[in-house]
Amino acid sequence: MPTRIAAALTRIRQTLPTDVTLLAVSKTHPAEAIQEAYDAGQRCFGENKVQELIAKAPLLPQDIEWHLIGHLQTNKVRSVLPYVSLIQSVDSLKLVATIDKESAKLALSTRILLQVHIAQEETKFGFSPEELCTLIEKNAFTAYKHVQICGLMGMASLSEDEAQIRREFDSLKTLFDEIRTKNLLPVSTFQILSMGMSGDYPIAVEAGSTLVRVGSSIFGARNYGAETSENKEA
Ligand SMILES: *Cc1c(COP(=O)(O)O)cnc(C)c1O
Repeated sequence: MPTRIAAALTRIRQTLPTDVTLLAVSKTHPAEAIQEAYDAGQRCFGENKVQELIAKAPLLPQDIEWHLIGHLQTNKVRSVLPYVSLIQSVDSLKLVATIDKESAKLALSTRILLQVHIAQEETKFGFSPEELCTLIEKNAFTAYKHVQICGLMGMASLSEDEAQIRREFDSLKTLFDEIRTKNLLPVSTFQILSMGMSGDYPIAVEAGSTLVRVGSSIFGARNYGAETSENKEA
């Protein structure tokens, strides 16, 4: 009998096109649950807090790809760099500059996604689409040689309104395509469109997502205890 986590992974993978990456969001779940998913073949895991990521990573197999998906404070960049394969939640130019500077010190080239604010909620982090376009036009990202901008990440509104969610994902896909077709950021690395969570990933995939971030549908509901909202500082 497959475990509950293994069964959930199989069920979700069956619904995903083969070229869409499944990121298992393991925040708040113990290393044992992550190991269980690993044993079922899962290799990419997402955490939203630096402390939690760097506490769990050494307990688990070395070939796991860790993604940071929560807001990152500049003073925590250095400690997380040795562990992450992709920082999805880069939401300011200042953070890009800090990741670049700290990566240079460690002789690393760090893969990042730019987080874009597409939801109606004001609390979500991210560049606005307009702000991002302006920065790209000003070549604001070209100076940073120790970061690779691998794509965009976005979260839709927490809403029951499917049409609204679809519009938000469509808007991010349009921005992603525009950057690629005009080669505004180097297309050789700019290839990931991270959108979709447990509640909305089928819509995100229809809209062109290449990476979905799924937590509760794999690991079950989170027990927040001391509070670990994705909008808290990582
Ligand atoms: C927690 C989280 C997810 C996963 O959420 P689920 O609804 O549990 O699938 C995805 N993306 C981000 C940025 C998150 O913080």
